[in-house]
Amino acid sequence: AKGNNLTSYELFNVEMRQTVQEIFELETSLRQALEEQQFILHYQPIVSTNSLQLLGFEALVRWVHPDKDLISPRKFIPLAEETGLIIPLSEWIFEEACGQMAQWCAHFPIANSLKISVNIAAYHFQSPQFLATIEQTLAKTKLLGKNLKLELTESLLIKNTDRVLSLLPQLQKQGIEISLDDFGTGYSSLNYLKRFPINTLKIDKSFVDGLDYDSNQADVSIIKAIIYIAQSLGMNVVAEGVETDFQRKQLQKLQCEAIQGYLIFPPLTSQEATNFINSQLSV
Ligand code: C2E
Ligand code: CA
Ligand code: CA
Ligand code: CA
Repeated sequence: AKGNNLTSYELFNVEMRQTVQEIFELETSLRQALEEQQFILHYQPIVSTNSLQLLGFEALVRWVHPDKDLISPRKFIPLAEETGLIIPLSEWIFEEACGQMAQWCAHFPIANSLKISVNIAAYHFQSPQFLATIEQTLAKTKLLGKNLKLELTESLLIKNTDRVLSLLPQLQKQGIEISLDDFGTGYSSLNYLKRFPINTLKIDKSFVDGLDYDSNQADVSIIKAIIYIAQSLGMNVVAEGVETDFQRKQLQKLQCEAIQGYLIFPPLTSQEATNFINSQLSV
C-alpha cells in the first residue's frame, strides 16, 4: 500500500470496529426495547391451496424501533440469541401470540378451528423451563393446545434429539402440533423424519421460487419428493413464500394442501388479521 491507502489489514480493522460498535449499540437498545415493549407481532394467514380457506396464522415478530423503521427479525433474533435476551423475548412472543389467538377464539366461533403457529428459537426450546412455560402460558391465556402449533427448525431437532424425543410427545398429548420449518434447507435427514413425531413439513420459499413458467426441474422434483415423503409418513405440507397464482396452481397439482405467502397476504397487523377472520364469516 502506498500513501494513505489503507492496507487490507487496517481496512479490516476499521470495518470490524464499526461492526462491533453497531452490534454494541443494537444490543443496548434491544435490552431497552424489551423493557419498553417495542415489539409487536404480525400474523400471516395460512390457507388451503384449493379453496383459500383460512387455516391459521404464523406469528412473526417485529421491532418497532423509536427512531428507525421496523427492524427485521433476521437482524435482531441472532443478536438476541448471542446475548441471552432471546429467552425473555421468546416468552413475550409466546404469550402475546397465545393471548391473541385466545381472544380470537372467544370472539369468533370459526377461530376455534384455526391454529396459531409460533416460531421457536433453539435457546428457548433448550431452556429447562420450556415445557413449564408453555403449559403456564396456555393456562394463563386460556388457549387450548389444539389451537397452537410450534415451528421448529431442522438444526434444532438435530442438536437436541433426546430432548426432542421426550418433549414432542408431551406437547402433542396436549393437542399442540409440530411443524418442521424451512424443510430441505438444512441438514435434512430422512432418518429423523421417521423418528420424530412431526405433524407438518413447511417447504422453504427457496424451492417455491423455482416454480415458475420456466420451472426449474430440480425444484419441482424436490417439492414433489417432499410432498411424497410427507404423505407417506402421514404429515401435512405447507408451502411458504407463495407469490404468484402460477405457483399456487403448481402446488395444487402436486397436492400440497396449504400455502402461505404474499399472493394471499403479507404478515398482517393484529387489527388487519382480525378483519380477515371477520371477513371469513360471510364466505
Ligand atoms: P420464517 O419462519 O421462514 O418466516 C417466513 C418469512 O418469510 C417471514 O419473514 C415472512 O414475512 C416472509 N414471507 C412470507 N411470505 C413471503 C412471500 O411470499 N415472499 C417473501 N419474499 N417473503 C415472505 P420475517 O417476518 O422477516 O421473518 C424472518 C425470519 O425470522 C423467520 O423466517 C424466522 O426464522 C425468524 N422469526 C420471525 N419471527 C420470529 C419469532 O417470533 N420467533 C423466532 N424465534 N423467530 C422468528
Ligand atoms: Ca416459520
Ligand atoms: Ca419458514
Ligand atoms: Ca424460510
